[in-house]
Amino acid sequence: MGFNRPLLAVLLIVLAVAVAWWRLAPSGDQEVRQTRIIMSTVVEITALPEPGVDTEAAVNAAFAEMVRIEGVMSSHRADSEVSRLSGPVTRMELSTDTAAVIRQGLAIAKRSDGAFDLALGRLIKLWNVLGEHPHVPTAAAITKALRGVGPGDLRLEGRTAIKADPELAIDLGSIAKGYAVDRACAVLQAAGIRDATVNAGGNLRVMGSHRNRPWRIGIQHPRKKNEVMAILPVNDEAVVTSGDYQRFFMQDGVRYHHIFDPRTGWPARRCQSVTIVADNATLADGLSTAVFVLGPEKGLALARSFGVEALIIDIDGGRHMTDGLRDRLQWP
Ligand code: AMP
Ligand code: MG
Repeated sequence: MGFNRPLLAVLLIVLAVAVAWWRLAPSGDQEVRQTRIIMSTVVEITALPEPGVDTEAAVNAAFAEMVRIEGVMSSHRADSEVSRLSGPVTRMELSTDTAAVIRQGLAIAKRSDGAFDLALGRLIKLWNVLGEHPHVPTAAAITKALRGVGPGDLRLEGRTAIKADPELAIDLGSIAKGYAVDRACAVLQAAGIRDATVNAGGNLRVMGSHRNRPWRIGIQHPRKKNEVMAILPVNDEAVVTSGDYQRFFMQDGVRYHHIFDPRTGWPARRCQSVTIVADNATLADGLSTAVFVLGPEKGLALARSFGVEALIIDIDGGRHMTDGLRDRLQWP
């Protein structure tokens, strides 16, 4: 049997062109995964391709948006909006971004029984948990750093922030990463991406699905490094974890971490970790910190009052969760 040589040649050329196109097409059908350090945290974005969408350009734009939010809300940068608000002012007109974050934070603070407070800037700087030589401050220094902190210390009228005392310093570390994650998702979506995850050091939001299945999110074990404690399948939700293992120092065998009880000025002692599942990461981020300070009982009540799900690992390793998570979590 003889070959139809011209036909074979055409087929080979078609095949070669197809392979070249597949390898050189801008995003192909490959998912794009990139990692950067933003807001002192490892941020990972994974995006699945869509026809006609430049996946890499979309991911780069999402990172750029997070860098922009960092520039506005960082407490470490003297020129940020939040640093200016922490200066000796009592009233300041805010950008829509900062006003939105503070509005959400104040709604949580109001129901948190004093456990969540956006005006802890001086206390957080005093402890400086991530500094070069962190140590436990004196009781007098803690009392001084807490002066003026409490209900009504920070208010919002429209987009104007009002501090009760000009010396109060504002810290959005409890909630700004969640907002940056939400903004990154909005940018991905506007670019035409449908399926993606954005993870900023445990502040995670999922868009769509992973090749027609839910994304499977690992929740970090608070006491076993790099070990997944539980797995949660999710579509279109935020999963945010606060833990005492993320940023801490040890002194005389005691762990001093970065989440403080504003009523004492000391690291909160009721939990090892708190995971909140909500429809946006700003709310989930703020609540994970607030619930961590409140502990299992009051914390679950706060989560329920916002209509979100919570998993709490208490200080002894005991598990507490809202009913909605009971059937969803998988324990390996
Ligand atoms: P997260 O990792 O989201 O729980 O946020 C922890 C960060 O929130 C800390 O590093 C501080 O910047 C800030 N923070 C600590 N304690 C509180 C608190 N009780 N209320 C509000 N913000 C806090
Ligand atoms: Mg938080």
